[in-house]
Amino acid sequence: MQSAVIGFPRVGKLRELKFACEKYFRGEVEKEDLWKEAAKLRKEHWEWQQSFGIQYISSNDFSFYDNMLDAAVLLNAVPECYRKLKLNETDTYFAMARGYQGEAGDVPALAMKKWFNTNYHYIVPEIGADTQIRLNGSKPFEEYREARCLGIQTKSVLIGAFTFLKLAKYQDNKTPDDYVDAMVSGYRAVLEKFRTLGAEWVQLDEPALVTDLTKEDICLFETLYKQILAGKGKLKVLLQTYFGDIRDCYRNVAALDFDGIGLDFLEGKKTKDLVETYGFPEDKVLFAGLVNGKNIWRCNYRETLEVLWEIKKYTPQIVLSTSCSLLHVPYTLGSECSMKAEVKQHFSFALEKLQELQELSVLTECDDYKAQKEYVDNRRLFEQERPFVHAEAKQRAAALSEKDFIRQPERAERQRLQKKAFGLPLLPTTTIGSLPQTQEVKRNRSSYRRGEIDKSTYDSQVYAFIKECIEKQEQIGLDVLVHGEYERNDMVEFFGENLSGYVFTDKAWVQSYGTRCVKPPIIFGDVMRIAPITVDYSVYAQSLTERPVKGMLTGPVTILNWSFPREDISLKEMAYQIGIAVREEVLDLERAGIRMIQIDEAALKEKLPIRRSDWYSGYLDWAIPAFRLCHSGVKPETQIHTHMCYSEFDDIIREIDDMDADVISFEASRSKLTILDAIRENHFETEVGPGVYDIHSPRVPSVEEIVTALRIMLTKISKEKLWVNPDCGLKTRGMPETEASLRNLVEAAGIVREEL
Ligand code: GLN
Ligand code: ZN
Repeated sequence: MQSAVIGFPRVGKLRELKFACEKYFRGEVEKEDLWKEAAKLRKEHWEWQQSFGIQYISSNDFSFYDNMLDAAVLLNAVPECYRKLKLNETDTYFAMARGYQGEAGDVPALAMKKWFNTNYHYIVPEIGADTQIRLNGSKPFEEYREARCLGIQTKSVLIGAFTFLKLAKYQDNKTPDDYVDAMVSGYRAVLEKFRTLGAEWVQLDEPALVTDLTKEDICLFETLYKQILAGKGKLKVLLQTYFGDIRDCYRNVAALDFDGIGLDFLEGKKTKDLVETYGFPEDKVLFAGLVNGKNIWRCNYRETLEVLWEIKKYTPQIVLSTSCSLLHVPYTLGSECSMKAEVKQHFSFALEKLQELQELSVLTECDDYKAQKEYVDNRRLFEQERPFVHAEAKQRAAALSEKDFIRQPERAERQRLQKKAFGLPLLPTTTIGSLPQTQEVKRNRSSYRRGEIDKSTYDSQVYAFIKECIEKQEQIGLDVLVHGEYERNDMVEFFGENLSGYVFTDKAWVQSYGTRCVKPPIIFGDVMRIAPITVDYSVYAQSLTERPVKGMLTGPVTILNWSFPREDISLKEMAYQIGIAVREEVLDLERAGIRMIQIDEAALKEKLPIRRSDWYSGYLDWAIPAFRLCHSGVKPETQIHTHMCYSEFDDIIREIDDMDADVISFEASRSKLTILDAIRENHFETEVGPGVYDIHSPRVPSVEEIVTALRIMLTKISKEKLWVNPDCGLKTRGMPETEASLRNLVEAAGIVREEL
């Protein structure tokens, strides 16, 4: 059986691409240097895949920032405000990604959104009256040629026309239908070009097909592809789907003239049923996504082969594939030097997944596959008992009852008591938690990690940073302060390190957006808190000031969603185990005199199932209670804050309110404040701080800009309920721009406060 890879991680084994791009952003290297580094990485990635005998290797899965942005540029969807800067092609691209502030002008970045149910974020293309969609770029062709020069025949990967139109943002009353003809010509031109280059296959990614589709959506999809495919000639087109099943359009897809269809058999709960019920067209190749592109556990060969034998009854032409791009898993276990062998044997990162594809391909050819060493070893691994079992953690989660999830008294009463207790001005100003992680902060941590300094030296440095940051915030004039989060490099890893059941990696980076990567910890066993985690830092920060300092924790759903989860117990059970640990920390903070506690649920929306039918049972039904569990035991005067990234929660606004926090802050600036209407319509009770500026870009917002945003917010949110804050943590920003931005924020809040 042949094998395929949907996409490979592009950032490099040691995040080489990130460092190269950032050097370029800082003006330290030329474009040519960046290009050279990128080509080196692409070569390495293709060659790895070739060495594991993968027949269908992707090209154009590489990107300097994001594949959706690449597609927008390829299709000429560059908004006028970026063209007007008159920068060169590369800098226009990065201006769209990151915003631009300089001699040529001042333009914010395009919006960024979560890529389906992953922690990857894509750039949202903007389409309006001035957009002329047509093929206007050569990146996929150049990368295809580059691979061929290395002797590697690749399938180029492009975001498909349907997903592109579904995810784009429209202006000037435009709709996807207005762009069908242009998209068809654009994609036909792409296929034509590949045909002349001698390509055999092209892969069009259509993950939007796994969402709930309307009749109009299906009609749009069919209209696009009937015409696009009519021009493909000898070139073969693979329609690739992932992150779920295509139950709404399986038969429509099967009836179109694709040469291959890629289906996800892991997250697609109904994929196998669909094939069994409706069969699979004999003239097409089925790319069966069975090696998990999202999680890091070894593939269970017995289960995988069983599925393969079953679907083989329906179609002879099967290629074994990954379930989605390997972009969502780290590069290789080979970089993990400190991980114990008994743990490591259970994992498989991108390179190891290539090996799994290879081994599985071989096993499918053997009649006595059960006797093969690869198979036997794999069986043994899955049959063996795993370490890190904690009966106590299991029992405590099982013993939870109704009252553990309900905070008393009701929120309105608490808010009244809290207003009195804190005496804050209207429109209180605050930040989300972290302040810039300067070189000194990072150096302190790395010295400690390398064993160059001991824990007390490390901590005394952290305390010095805290002191400085409290003083700075007082000078800036913020009302509610934070301790700066200098003790953590990552809001999940830090907590994981202080919980039993977690396993850490040295280099297991996964791309989150642009050049940003995260290093998710792994939930390996039952989770329990070992000792207080943040109390000393918070108590110290509070001792330095009269103003309230927020205790800063990460919530259970986010800890879970930003970790690689176990596959042997339910997400709910894991969330409750973590919830109990966070609850203990909350109560310790309160006991130590901390009066405001923020429990971040940055990633709550992240794992919301793609299909609405799965939202309430199987996600929100345990995610919301897991959060409530953390704070239901605090006093009425203790103010519970939460924070979420990405305000696209208009449709679960009631459930968010139901988390029963006292205050919530969230990202709003990049998504242009649409959430405010939902807040008003649903009589949202939680006090709110919709972010007044975008921290993902280095640009400093002006006072006027913030004043305008606040005035708009006040048309939808009562003045008693509005907070003023940036849209997310500031740790990735530099100090000068942060200070300037916060000063403008405080000034703007003051101006608007005067008007009230
Ligand atoms: N408190 C965290 C911080 O400020 C929240 C980060 C986040 O939402 N991603 O860094
Ligand atoms: Zn955030």
